[in-house]
Amino acid sequence: MAADDTLAKVSDFGFETRAIHAGQEPDPRTGAVVPAIYATSTYKQDGVGGLREGYEYSRSANPTRTALEECIASLELGVRGFAFASGLAAEDTLLRALTKPGDHVIIPDDAYGGTYRLFDKVESRWGLAYDPVPISDVDAVRAAIGPQTRIVWVETPTNPLLGIADIAALAEVAHAAGALLVVDNTFASPYLQQPIAHGADVVVHSTTKYAGGHSDVVGGALVAREEAVAEQIAFHQNSMGAVAGPFDSWLVLRGLKTLALRMERHSDNAEQVVEFLQSRPEVSHVIYPGLAEHPGHAVAVRQMKRFGGMVSFRMAAGEQAALDVVEHTELFTLAESLGGVESLIEHPGRMTHASAAGSPLEVPADLVRVSVGIETGADLVADLAHAFERLAR
Ligand SMILES: *Cc1c(COP(=O)(O)O)cnc(C)c1O
Repeated sequence: MAADDTLAKVSDFGFETRAIHAGQEPDPRTGAVVPAIYATSTYKQDGVGGLREGYEYSRSANPTRTALEECIASLELGVRGFAFASGLAAEDTLLRALTKPGDHVIIPDDAYGGTYRLFDKVESRWGLAYDPVPISDVDAVRAAIGPQTRIVWVETPTNPLLGIADIAALAEVAHAAGALLVVDNTFASPYLQQPIAHGADVVVHSTTKYAGGHSDVVGGALVAREEAVAEQIAFHQNSMGAVAGPFDSWLVLRGLKTLALRMERHSDNAEQVVEFLQSRPEVSHVIYPGLAEHPGHAVAVRQMKRFGGMVSFRMAAGEQAALDVVEHTELFTLAESLGGVESLIEHPGRMTHASAAGSPLEVPADLVRVSVGIETGADLVADLAHAFERLAR
């Protein structure tokens, strides 16, 4: 969308409009409405150093990736976006860009298992110290900050316990100590929550999840609030090279177009599933930030538009019952990952969070996590009801 005198700039449009148009003008040569998949490694130069629109080599920049990077930066209200081969590649690049040996990072005590493993088994070998802290407790975070603390790393909602962290309060605490606030916004997506608006410095995404939204691509993204941080990320993205390829970028870009619609439906269906689970005697706890009894509910209401598609629950009868439920559903597919159009179910203790066993991040054995998809809500409830009936027999 050309920014001329008669049209508002794309940045002035609403979220849904930006999801479809930011970074995605029709191709000037052909008029193609959808950005092409630029499957090219290199670009013809008009004379030595004569680059066309800055493209010289596709690790450094590729037009399909640029389109995605501009779109996600717009959706997350940042100055620049960066697309990576996976969420963990984005995280690793960010840590190289912002930290050095001897620095310290605070991470959530129920961080995504892969993020925990990255800190515990990889980054720590290179001299980066970390402490898992219950980040829903602002005082605990303040107390854990030391002179070497460079980053307060936040997930909200957390995975799989759906804890809520107060982004604005943590931004204040981090900034007062000279640290940066990084928010992994994978679970909420920018439609439900925009951390930069609450003071975050960098937003992290596994675009594998809600951003892509169709369980057909693995990818990651970073969005920076300020140019100085963006420059560090840009340098490291190019120097380390874990970039998103053009086809993967295109899939995520296509996913983003329907993000708003999908998140509304994920939230509608999750509410139906929560209501059902609350009615079941087999379930001891239903964990969802939209419930008034959730300890983070008030904060979630303040910083989220709705409460998303992730629901966790605990089985009163313990681990075996949890394992049986995840094996007895039919529409809910037993699988890791989340955020796709189809509903998934899993046992975090034995699956996504198995690597956290015996660590401070170990999750309860009776826990079940569902990623509620956008199928017909009543069908999802019926599938869970059927699984519970099989349990009773
Ligand atoms: C999946 C996930 C990641 C890691 O992303 P990959 O794309 O699998 O590398 C990081 N954070 C959260 C919250 C996730 O769910």
